[in-house]
Amino acid sequence: MPTDVVIVGGAFAGLAAATYLGRARRSVLIIDKGEPRNRFAAASHGFLGFDGSNPADILARAREQLAAYPTVRLINGEAVAARAEDGGFAFTLASGETLTSRLAILAFGLRDSLDPIPGLAERWGKSVLHCPYCHGYEYSDRRLGVLWRTPMSVHQASLVAEWGPTTLYLNGADLAPDSAATLAARGVRVEPARIKALIGEGTLLQAIELDDGRESPLDALYVAPKSTLSSPIAADLGALIEDGPLGPILKTNAEKKTTVPGLYAAGDIAHAPHSVSFAVADGVMAGTSAHRTLVFG
Ligand SMILES: Cc1cc2nc3c(=O)[nH]c(=O)nc-3n(C[C@H](O)[C@H](O)[C@H](O)COP(=O)(O)OP(=O)(O)OC[C@H]3O[C@@H](n4cnc5c(N)ncnc54)[C@H](O)[C@@H]3O)c2cc1C
Repeated sequence: MPTDVVIVGGAFAGLAAATYLGRARRSVLIIDKGEPRNRFAAASHGFLGFDGSNPADILARAREQLAAYPTVRLINGEAVAARAEDGGFAFTLASGETLTSRLAILAFGLRDSLDPIPGLAERWGKSVLHCPYCHGYEYSDRRLGVLWRTPMSVHQASLVAEWGPTTLYLNGADLAPDSAATLAARGVRVEPARIKALIGEGTLLQAIELDDGRESPLDALYVAPKSTLSSPIAADLGALIEDGPLGPILKTNAEKKTTVPGLYAAGDIAHAPHSVSFAVADGVMAGTSAHRTLVFG
């Protein structure tokens, strides 16, 4: 008998989907590699009831609660290949094991690549941040920066200015005159020079060292990373992947069904914007939607 649902990715979206399917007494196998996107941050903010909690603690608690449901099993491992088979799906794990299921939910998250500026990667999630709603409050009224990556960085800097005095670091890029006017209206300073390195003790940020020898004092730098899907499995299964506002995104409808019958997607790979709360809600929708398909076809 194939399992009712295999879930690839067992963090916020995947575990939320599994919780609802387990409560509906359906058989579920979760495969999880254990690398959630926010693992670089010591505290996760904004998730109701868990504001400021360590992300790993939130997930450990969810895993512990899920263990009470006898139809749910979690495998620590990686799904490396997938194919449609016998009206369902077959997943191959890195261990060589194959798992089959009637339906599947993809919740394997995104992978971020950061600019290769010395001192940046080691501060990711600490003093180099991606989102002011998640970490802006902790840096209220401090010296804030935004690193230019695309014309959207102008919007990002205009928003970040809500939390404190902000500088947009162009790092050698050109700024359109209308963007300069937008930034000026929000009181954002513009620093055109190229960046040499981020400096500060440990993971603290104290300044940006510029190519021309100057140092620009700073407490937090916002960057928009380049994000890609963590796994090629969605493409292997033929699911449609679109260009979303924050990178690639699986096309899903309101019930979290992808373009492949029987295949659902949830979390950062299927929803923008990104947050733990959105990922959990998305997982609940995918789980209950898959359940209704099991019941009603
Ligand atoms: C630095 C940083 C800080 C953040 N801080 C906050 C915050 O404070 N508050 C907030 O609300 N949001 C925050 N976010 C956003 C939040 O991390 C994401 O929105 C959330 O993690 C998305 O959940 P997800 O379940 O979709 O994906 P993920 O959390 O990325 O989980 C995906 C899981 O799937 C696994 N996986 C991947 N490929 C495979 C495979 N082939 N086989 C098996 N398993 C696989 C991964 O290892 C991972 O465990 C932050 C993001 C970053 C980058």
